[in-house]
Amino acid sequence: MTSSPSPRIALVTGASRGIGRALALELARDGVHVVALARTQGALEELDDEIRGLGGEATLVPCDLADFDALDRLGAALFTRWGKLDIFVGNGGVLGPLSPLAHVDPKDWDRVVAVNVTANWRLIRSLDPLLRASGAGRVVFITSGAAHRATMKPFWGPYAISKAALEAMARTYAAETASDGVTAMLANPGPLRTRMRAQAMPGEDPMTLRTPEEFAKKCLALLTPQWRESARLYDFPTDRLMDFRAPA
Ligand code: NAP
Repeated sequence: MTSSPSPRIALVTGASRGIGRALALELARDGVHVVALARTQGALEELDDEIRGLGGEATLVPCDLADFDALDRLGAALFTRWGKLDIFVGNGGVLGPLSPLAHVDPKDWDRVVAVNVTANWRLIRSLDPLLRASGAGRVVFITSGAAHRATMKPFWGPYAISKAALEAMARTYAAETASDGVTAMLANPGPLRTRMRAQAMPGEDPMTLRTPEEFAKKCLALLTPQWRESARLYDFPTDRLMDFRAPA
């Protein structure tokens, strides 16, 4: 009797729309079982329908990334069901307030740090044994040019600071997994046609921007077992791999 090979399993955070949704669909097209996390249950159900329409399978996790106990429980649930995780895309994030640092409300600061930084650390903590058990764990964190612009823009403080912290975390995790079959990469999408971008740049014509689907098609390579690079940044606007050096 032959048994079919076990599918690759991917956790994608922020999968209800935008970049995360496009990545979830791209992974499903590649035969990966997608564990899709976001708060908006209806949007996750629509994603599930679309993945089924492609002949794929998904597991929905309606959850707030700031619910850290839930992230711990998620790791345990993934262990019970599959005993491994092949792909972790740390994509879910918030823009936070665009205002001078001195005017940022502490509650807004805490929320940006919780969702953009701490949640990704809590997920590393919860998922690390599962990624190592994969034998070819692939991790990508979605960062932003705001983290490493040579001349920092005013008013983007909480977001830029959170993405700079995320980059330091990705570099650290890459160094810690260098000899364990796990790769940890950063990907900078540049400006894409999503709700977050529209929130940041309300006067911009979205039709002038590239789409999350274009980015997802390129990003898929970083999530395959064949991918070998770690501790590097994929910069979508220039289509270049960088050694975490600041893009222009
Ligand atoms: P988006 O359309 O606003 O999507 C954000 C996603 O994150 C949604 O699925 C949202 O789902 C999820 N999310 C937000 N807060 C959450 C929370 N507390 N718990 C669970 N999920 C949460 O934005 P996007 O442009 O696709 O952004 C995705 C990533 O790309 C972000 O990390 C962003 O910083 C980065 N990025 C985007 C651009 C761009 O131009 N679009 C450029 C550079 C970097 P729910 O609301 O359903 O929870």
